[in-house]
Amino acid sequence: MATATTSPRVVPCGAATCHRALLEKERDGRQTICAPCVHIIGVWLGEIPRQIIVLEGSRERETTGAGTGGRAAIRTAPLPGRPDVLNLLGPAAWGDSIRDPYGDSRDDHGGPLPIAGVLIPWVRIVCDERRWDPPADLTPQSLAELLAAPRVLDYASRRAWAGDMRDELHEMMRTIRSVTRLRPQRRPVPQPCPRCDSLTLVETDHQLYVDCLTCESMYTRDELALAARITVASLEADVV
Ligand SMILES: [Zn+2]
Ligand SMILES: [Zn+2]
Repeated sequence: MATATTSPRVVPCGAATCHRALLEKERDGRQTICAPCVHIIGVWLGEIPRQIIVLEGSRERETTGAGTGGRAAIRTAPLPGRPDVLNLLGPAAWGDSIRDPYGDSRDDHGGPLPIAGVLIPWVRIVCDERRWDPPADLTPQSLAELLAAPRVLDYASRRAWAGDMRDELHEMMRTIRSVTRLRPQRRPVPQPCPRCDSLTLVETDHQLYVDCLTCESMYTRDELALAARITVASLEADVV
């Protein structure tokens, strides 16, 4: 009882797309984003190779279908938004202008930035600051692999720019998934969201945290169990 009087200062997670406050151990570890955000960044980056396979498959289908005649017969329905596929797979240069992923450059392309174009600025910041070697090729796969390395993610999670990185990758994954329609398997969790009360909590393959599809909050299993106990307790209190 006595310990509840001093409430620690609340520091929000540095990502605009995240609603969590940093836990004490995260603040002590000088993290600027929460552990669920660090985790989800790793999940997204790990998903990129599979997403690229689907995007490449779509591009090849398109190309062979419109080609010199030979095997055009097996042409399956193209993925929607083919210009988006080409944009996403487009090349990007190491020296491209400093990050402005969703600024004017987007209008020039008329579509999403190349995946490599979103990843390169972050790889560059990390490599510049740490004097680590960048990948020899600048494919989205090697860029994603570098960023997902534990020591890199760990370093990034303590930088002031970590929240921006999380927000940009979030936007990029939304775009990629909407083009490929390849999404991780989700299962509903039958419990209202502690933040927005919607019945839209889902658990996702390879993901430690439960997400709310309505407000995009993330929860650990323990937090949900606690929230459920609190709900039950307050219901019982109402009854009495
Ligand atoms: Zn967060
Ligand atoms: Zn919610």
